[in-house]
Amino acid sequence: MPAVAQYIESYYTASANRQLDFPALAGAHTADVCVIGGGYTGLSSAIHLAERGYRVVLLEAERIAWGASGRNGGQCTLGQRQPQEELEQRFGKEEARRLWDLGVEAVDTVRELIQRFNIQCDLKRGNLQAAAKQSDANWYRGHADHMRNAYGLDCRFVEGEELACLAGSTAFKGGLVEHESAHLHPLNYALGLAAAAARLGVELHENSRVTAYDAASPTCVRTGQGSVTAQFVVLACNGYLGRLEPRIAGKIMPINNFILATEPLSAGQQQQLNPQDLCMFDAKFVVNYWKLTGDGRMLFGGGENYTRRFPADIKSFVRKYLLDFYPQLAAARIDYGWGGTLAVTMNRLPCFGRLQPDVFYALGYSGHGVQIATLAGKLIAEAVAGTAERFDVMARIPTPKFPGGTLLRWPGLVVGMLYHAIKDRIGS
Ligand SMILES: Cc1cc2nc3c(=O)[nH]c(=O)nc-3n(C[C@H](O)[C@H](O)[C@H](O)COP(=O)(O)OP(=O)(O)OC[C@H]3O[C@@H](n4cnc5c(N)ncnc54)[C@H](O)[C@@H]3O)c2cc1C
Repeated sequence: MPAVAQYIESYYTASANRQLDFPALAGAHTADVCVIGGGYTGLSSAIHLAERGYRVVLLEAERIAWGASGRNGGQCTLGQRQPQEELEQRFGKEEARRLWDLGVEAVDTVRELIQRFNIQCDLKRGNLQAAAKQSDANWYRGHADHMRNAYGLDCRFVEGEELACLAGSTAFKGGLVEHESAHLHPLNYALGLAAAAARLGVELHENSRVTAYDAASPTCVRTGQGSVTAQFVVLACNGYLGRLEPRIAGKIMPINNFILATEPLSAGQQQQLNPQDLCMFDAKFVVNYWKLTGDGRMLFGGGENYTRRFPADIKSFVRKYLLDFYPQLAAARIDYGWGGTLAVTMNRLPCFGRLQPDVFYALGYSGHGVQIATLAGKLIAEAVAGTAERFDVMARIPTPKFPGGTLLRWPGLVVGMLYHAIKDRIGS
């Protein structure tokens, strides 16, 4: 009997809403669609497929949202991971507009699922992007104008005292604030999706690692104890894909990212740090991101590594980034520190596609997956049902393989990341 997987220790697991347990797959099953992976991509696919009348079996190697979906910063921000200006330059204005519209719909879809399934996950509104370097602040000034004029986004450039007050820090030179983005408790959002999927008739299995699937149609998907024969397969494994599908593994790079949560702060401290209760991130390549939790802790993400191991002391590893911006928290107790693995792509844009006719995949959200992974499930369900136009908007984003493929991609990536980390640290 394989060992039963446990969640890692984090603020999220400590504050998780009641969890359902799902049995490991045993024996031979059949379904219309077999979804592999129980994070947002898999859960959203399962919900949207079940709502269209498909019989769905979802297989999760560990526990529901054991991966990035249960560990992330909870920031659910508008658009794609790359700025619209860059998308316009690369793909032309019309295609960039389509990508923007999908990126807005992604956040709407998260809100709609939360409302429809009454998911308790500390959903809040608003985002501040802030730059510590003057050159980045200047860029935000033009960006805010562009987003207002070309996309009608209700956003503002902020600087000086107003910015210091909004961010609770004097570290920033300029930024963009808007109130259409959202933030939430990521694990509770995912657990709510799982409960909704179960109510819709999806058969969910935890502790059910897929070891292989056939190249035939219908496909037989195998775990250690059972199998699912299905017409369609959805690959939803993101940074934990491993060797399951070598044909796409080289398009993504799994990297580790880390978060801490302080003790609950006083009402006065919360007001000083974040008077509008926004989620925030900075303009660095290795991005820092932070927000207040539902119970008033500072939740701060910063620092990455590219090895298979997490730092031994994650709290101290992240705390130095926190104190760069918030020295006033030097005395705050750090209650939790944890890490997770996400998948990035070469161009930091997601990787959607299909293999053979019947295997769909979406991954490589590059740190922008709360909303885009949720959207991916909706678009995959549309494509399985035969209407792939919107899936194809995402699928035609070019996703080159990392040089060196799966074996040699590490050295190149590490050199690239270190170069950007040094640039982040160089002054204005
Ligand atoms: C520390 C951190 C902070 C982040 N912050 C943010 C943020 O603030 N905002 C944002 O938008 N994004 C953020 N992200 C990224 C975001 O969390 C991911 O993009 C998103 O959760 C991806 O969802 P997913 O379902 O595709 O993958 P995951 O949630 O990683 O789920 C994949 C699942 O597949 C399972 N699996 C893998 N292989 C198999 C197999 N062979 N058989 C069965 N199951 C398998 C895994 O166990 C895992 O549970 C962050 C990520 C991390 C790690």
